Amino acid sequence: METALFLFCENRVVSRSAANPDESPSIVLSYEHAMSVVQRQASHAREDAVRLKKRSVEKVALADAPGRVVAEPVVADRDQPPFPRATRDGFACRCEDLQAGGLRIAGQLRAGEAWTLGAIRPGEAVEIMTGASVPHGADCVVMVEHVSASDGRVSLAGPREIAVGENIIPAGAEARIGDVVVSAGRRVGIAEVAAAAACGAGQLAVFSRPRIAILATGDELIDVTEKPLAHQIRNSNSYSLAAQIRSAGGEPVAFPVVRDDLARTAKAIGEARSCDLILLTGGVSMGRYDFVEQALLALGAEFYFTGAQIQPGKPVVFGMLDDTCFFGLPGNPISTMVTFALFAGPMVRALGGENEDRPHFTMARLEEDVRVKPGLTRFLPARVESSFRGARVKRIAWQGSGDLAAAAKANGFLVVPETAESLTAGEIVTVMEM
Ligand code: AMP
Ligand code: MG
Repeated sequence: METALFLFCENRVVSRSAANPDESPSIVLSYEHAMSVVQRQASHAREDAVRLKKRSVEKVALADAPGRVVAEPVVADRDQPPFPRATRDGFACRCEDLQAGGLRIAGQLRAGEAWTLGAIRPGEAVEIMTGASVPHGADCVVMVEHVSASDGRVSLAGPREIAVGENIIPAGAEARIGDVVVSAGRRVGIAEVAAAAACGAGQLAVFSRPRIAILATGDELIDVTEKPLAHQIRNSNSYSLAAQIRSAGGEPVAFPVVRDDLARTAKAIGEARSCDLILLTGGVSMGRYDFVEQALLALGAEFYFTGAQIQPGKPVVFGMLDDTCFFGLPGNPISTMVTFALFAGPMVRALGGENEDRPHFTMARLEEDVRVKPGLTRFLPARVESSFRGARVKRIAWQGSGDLAAAAKANGFLVVPETAESLTAGEIVTVMEM
């Protein structure tokens, strides 16, 4: 079968005959270039999911919606607030009356109570509680702390400027009836679930989760439930990937471990094609038994890149098999984690219809000098401690990209730019969230 390798450059996919995979050209991109290639494909995926409605939509109970992606916007079913809301306990009155002198207390109004005595008249005040609807005629709420009240009258406790509108949120100031309060494409978090509840949405229309195939490759791999022989390794990548897929809003579909064999690898990839995205781990390096790229080539894949100038994770592969994207993630466990976070995670989120698909980066002050060889963008396991003053970050000592004990002490990855030879203690640096 004639196979083709496609070269991605300057927005184009250039095909190159590669009947002999050994002669296939490698496409190694800088981190930023690789990222932009993934983002372009991710936006096509989102377009397909959302605008072309390829991703199905399901209704879930509001309580089950956190973590899901909103498919149909949540709209205000009435003005918010629905009435002019008192934001303090105090007295509702006319601002100018209050400046002029004492006011007669016409009644008391609690949150949840309707005022039935008509508009407040000149010289009157209503004792009001936070969350109550300010009666007509009042244009301010003076805080209870700022007044003295006795014998049915209230006056300012001392000289104080009170402005019209003070401590009142006008009806509709937050949202008007019909306004979009939670937009489509937004991942439901704490604020979104509360905002939807406030709009009376007992159910939300959310996108179905994209199904993400996990194919771990390696003759040395056994499952966590098996007893390893001395030369065997437990398959940890299928677990870390499943966790990362879930937190990106996908549904992990774990396939049996694939042995290092060309035909078996191709067969397993073929079976995974029913999923929305295929993630392979291991078998993408230059070793004699690394068959992932060859198997993909044999199946007719296009490659957007076959490596990125990063560490860990340099041999990462990204491409398309018919209309299904795939990533070949390097097998070393921290390489797998980092390349998922950088590249595969954004694709999972886009496939799920989510608007925000970038990896999450934060800034922190570096605690100790870091020296590296320039030439690769590095993502080094690190521990970030944050407080209201800002965040501080420190590298975790590691034995390289297989060191899961180091990863388990980290909560992020310190980013060292490609051109840097060192980062100095005290510098503000970038950290990728884990
Ligand atoms: P590879 O990318 O296949 O060359 O593998 C690189 C290293 O990662 C080797 O030490 C493998 O044993 C290890 N490795 C590969 N796949 C996994 C996996 N699924 N779980 C844990 N370690 C793995
Ligand atoms: Mg391997």
